[in-house]
Amino acid sequence: KETSTRENNVAKIKVVVRKRPLNKKEISRKEDDIVTVSENALTVHEPKLKVDLTAYVEKHEFCFDAVLDEHVTNDEVYRETVEPIIPIIFQRTKATCFAYGQTGSGKTFTMQPLPLRAAQDLVKYLHQPVYRNQRFKLWLSFFEIYGGKLFDLLSDRKKLCMREDGRQQVCIVGLQEFEVSDVQIVKEYIERGNAARSTGSTGANEESSRSHAILQLAIKKHPEIKVSKRNNDGNESKPGKVVGKISFIDLAGSERGADTTDNDRQTRIEGAEINKSLLALKECIRALDNDQIHIPFRGSKLTEVLRDSFVGNSRTVMVSCISPNAGSCEHTLNTLRYADRVK
Ligand code: ADP
Ligand code: MG
Repeated sequence: KETSTRENNVAKIKVVVRKRPLNKKEISRKEDDIVTVSENALTVHEPKLKVDLTAYVEKHEFCFDAVLDEHVTNDEVYRETVEPIIPIIFQRTKATCFAYGQTGSGKTFTMQPLPLRAAQDLVKYLHQPVYRNQRFKLWLSFFEIYGGKLFDLLSDRKKLCMREDGRQQVCIVGLQEFEVSDVQIVKEYIERGNAARSTGSTGANEESSRSHAILQLAIKKHPEIKVSKRNNDGNESKPGKVVGKISFIDLAGSERGADTTDNDRQTRIEGAEINKSLLALKECIRALDNDQIHIPFRGSKLTEVLRDSFVGNSRTVMVSCISPNAGSCEHTLNTLRYADRVK
């Protein structure tokens, strides 16, 4: 009884904003912090100039499920966003947690520790008496969508393709999944995957800002091992059935979606793809929120890949990351407007 009450208390869609502190460069340039936070509301103080060049400030106010200011730790972010979802993963929930925002706003900083904490808690649940005898196991996979194509981050960036089975389940052909029973191994996989993210000559942040990184933790129920069903290695021949899963998505820099007029053709193509996927994501989350039967997954590779997380018992957490400095004002407002429309 208690778990079902808890399940109902976890909102289907939660939108959280996280503001990072001013960095050294912004402080040395004496940039103003233009974002003030008060409980679950925030105000952006946009510096403007009148025609006669007198300065004034235009205020923009927003309200979200939670607003986390620059003093909030990653642990507190975990407690606010992912922790409430963990128990219901065992009750057939597919959850997704997104980090959205411009490059440099703190998406990777926010997203990286979350799967590790989640794995810690999931493993704890696996050891509870109720689940111990259920043959539940935790599996991890980590891949990237770059220019509309899928790459396995835990298998030398092997190119992957997506297929849908008859029951509308998404299958990523060739994606390596690893059974993880202890948290140290999870940590190693996360580090390995992050090291394999798109990096080009222009530097890590530059390139990784054009890709979506997707880390999935799945609880699978394994069939009883019968001698006749074993193959030569002694492994079970049937794969486990997914009970529930949670996906952590470090989205491409939101400003990259505007790279559609760049001089470089490749940059333009990537920008168009990012723009398409972020718009499609917004449409899917809105459709979910309105309990629409038709969810427009087909709008992009990102939403197609996440299709099975948008149907049935799903939960979505959007963490919108913002920079506090005056120079980022326009991007910050764009991020907040996006988050506002998702809700
Ligand atoms: P993004 O992934 O959105 O491009 P990053 O996560 O790489 O941004 O963050 C940019 C820089 O800001 C990094 O050096 C990161 O360590 C720092 N940073 C981001 N968020 C915070 C925060 N809340 N507190 C302290 N430093 C942060
Ligand atoms: Mg990043």
